[in-house]
Amino acid sequence: MAVLLLVEDDNTLGMTLEVSLTSRGHQVHWSQNLAIARTLILRHPPDLILLDLGLPDGDGLTFCREIRSRGDITPLLIMTARETLFDRVEGLEAGADDFLPKPFELPELTARVDALLRRQRWHGPGDNVRIGHLEVDFQRRESRHKGESVEMTDLEIRLLRYFLDQAGRVVSRQELLASVWDQSPTAKTRTVDVFVARLRRLIEEDTGNPRHILGIRGVGYRLLPEPDIDTPP
Ligand code: CA
Repeated sequence: MAVLLLVEDDNTLGMTLEVSLTSRGHQVHWSQNLAIARTLILRHPPDLILLDLGLPDGDGLTFCREIRSRGDITPLLIMTARETLFDRVEGLEAGADDFLPKPFELPELTARVDALLRRQRWHGPGDNVRIGHLEVDFQRRESRHKGESVEMTDLEIRLLRYFLDQAGRVVSRQELLASVWDQSPTAKTRTVDVFVARLRRLIEEDTGNPRHILGIRGVGYRLLPEPDIDTPP
């Protein structure tokens, strides 16, 4: 059971989400505007925020930036009909953890909600991590693939570490370049894809159907420490 803050001005969608999420055992506090959302977030500190962008008294991104600027790291999922790449990147940069284009099917929303809540329970990696077929001892810089010792480059280790620290969250290629490659001028977004492919070969059972490092079309990647059993492959 989790406490959810739902900010959505569309009556029908808001009601559908409230009923559906409540029936899954969550406590849902629903606001149709930013003013009430600002009160609810203080009165009922949420485990997760579901946020529409077009609201009668302002833009949801403003709310997102507001809470992040005061250090609130509550997982936040943006639901919006705006679907250009620019909007997605802007939303992620404003501090959103995930982005769900409207219209969406309910099972897709509940799968995202479950993934974000699971990430909150995931307390970050220790020095020994096992993910899929790969085991890494970050302290000793030793790695094993299916039990066999395997060489990993510094960048591969740094990329994996970054994915693990951000587990469950969508990270853009730009963010990965900035954080893992320190924005080296020779690094291109294509570089990220090449390194992700290498990690997948070590981690995934089937690289054509990855269960741990998921590609998020037009944005980047999301790492799931455990396969998302709610989402069919
Ligand atoms: Ca709206």
